[in-house]
Parts: sequence; structure tokens; C-alpha cells
Amino acid sequence: AAQTDPDKTYVIATDVTFAPFEFQNEQGDFVGIDMDLLKAIAADQGFKYTVKPLGFNAAVQALQSRQVDGVIAGMSITDDRKLVFDFSDPYFDSGVQMAVAKSNDDIESYEDLRGKRVAVKTGTEGAMFADSVKDRYGFTTVTFDDSASMYDDVKTGNSVAVFDDYPVLLYGIAQGNGLKAVGEKEAGNSYGFAVSKGENAELLTKFNAGLANLRASGQYDEILQTYLGEGA
Ligand code: GLN
Repeated sequence: AAQTDPDKTYVIATDVTFAPFEFQNEQGDFVGIDMDLLKAIAADQGFKYTVKPLGFNAAVQALQSRQVDGVIAGMSITDDRKLVFDFSDPYFDSGVQMAVAKSNDDIESYEDLRGKRVAVKTGTEGAMFADSVKDRYGFTTVTFDDSASMYDDVKTGNSVAVFDDYPVLLYGIAQGNGLKAVGEKEAGNSYGFAVSKGENAELLTKFNAGLANLRASGQYDEILQTYLGEGA
């Protein structure tokens, strides 16, 4: 394997509005579980990086065309993606959830979506799930590039529902985003940090080693607690 330049600065792409995993705080800095994990892992393993908040699908495309070194974006480890990317060990379990506007009492199950529009984010597990059931339940999808835009579309009533990752939807709902969850979440895949297949093996090794160290030290739990704990 090629020797790694110790001064190399890895370029890591991420999503834009995916709280509690990545979002801008009042100072305009990107924070969240993914951002804090990456920061702590880089400190533990001694590597440098910059973050490019490109949006989810753009981040995945940038990684596929090798314009960036890695993606951390609440990215689910799926069999299809494993054909083009190498993933770290899983760091968070997820799943897809449906939500509607808080004031909407008409949608109680997927059956009630017949003839309606559903908001999804391009290239995500939520979009893939919606596509897999839309013919059965007779709804159409409207695509967006980020979660905030999907939620707005449901609040304005253009779409009646949204499918998104449950930790993100439930966090937003707890923050008062005007939506409510309907039904049970669908089983989904865990999140992993991704690099292009066969590239940046040393970065992946460092990510896994750092993640294991954070789990052992309790820092992993502290980061999750910061965003998901009581009163967060
Ligand atoms: N976990 C989902 C996926 O990987 C969504 C990720 C995201 O929207 N940032 O497809």
C-alpha cells in the first residue's frame, strides 16, 4: 500500500439539514452526532480533514466520482452501496418513518395515501422505501434534496406525508417542526462512514480504530447523549 502523506487533509462530504446528525448551529458551524464523532475520531487518530456540506445525494455522487475522500451523512450501509463504497463499522441503527402535518388526522396508515403526494429525499433509503410501496398504496412521490425542504412541503400541504429516517424525524418533531409520526418505523440499515471502494483504506482503518476507542472511553455515549439525551 502507498505511504500516506501525514499532512494530507481528507475532504469529507455531508448532508445539510439532517439534525441531530449534521446541522448548522446559531454560529453557522456544522454540528451534530456525525460532526462530533468525526472530530473526536480525527483527534484520537491524528488526521486532518475538512467538511463539505453538499447535501446527501450530491455527497454520495461526489464520493462515487472520487471528488471527496469520504462521506459521513447518516448514510445507511446497504448491499447496493457496498458494491461501490467501503463502509466503516456501523455507528448508529436507523429505519424509515412516515410523518404528516401535526394538524392532519386523515392519514393513519399507508392505505390513506391513495391519490396523494409524498415527499422524499433523492437517493435515500426513505425514497427507496416509498418507491417500493407507492404502486401498492397508489401515491406519487415529490423529490427534494434535503430534509428541511421535505418537511416544508408537508407543512404547506403540497405533500401529505414524508418518509425520512426515524431518528431525524423524531428529533425534528421533538423540536416542534410541526409534524407528527404516523405508524411504526420500517426496519432499516445502520449508518456507516463511507469511502470509495478500494480507496482511502487507511482512513477507514483509522475511523474504525477511533470509533472503537470512543466507544471504550465513553465519549461515543457522551456525544449521543448531547443530542439525544433527556432535555436535549
Ligand atoms: N439514511 C438514509 C440513507 O442513507 C438517509 C441519509 C440522509 O438523508 N442523510 O439513504
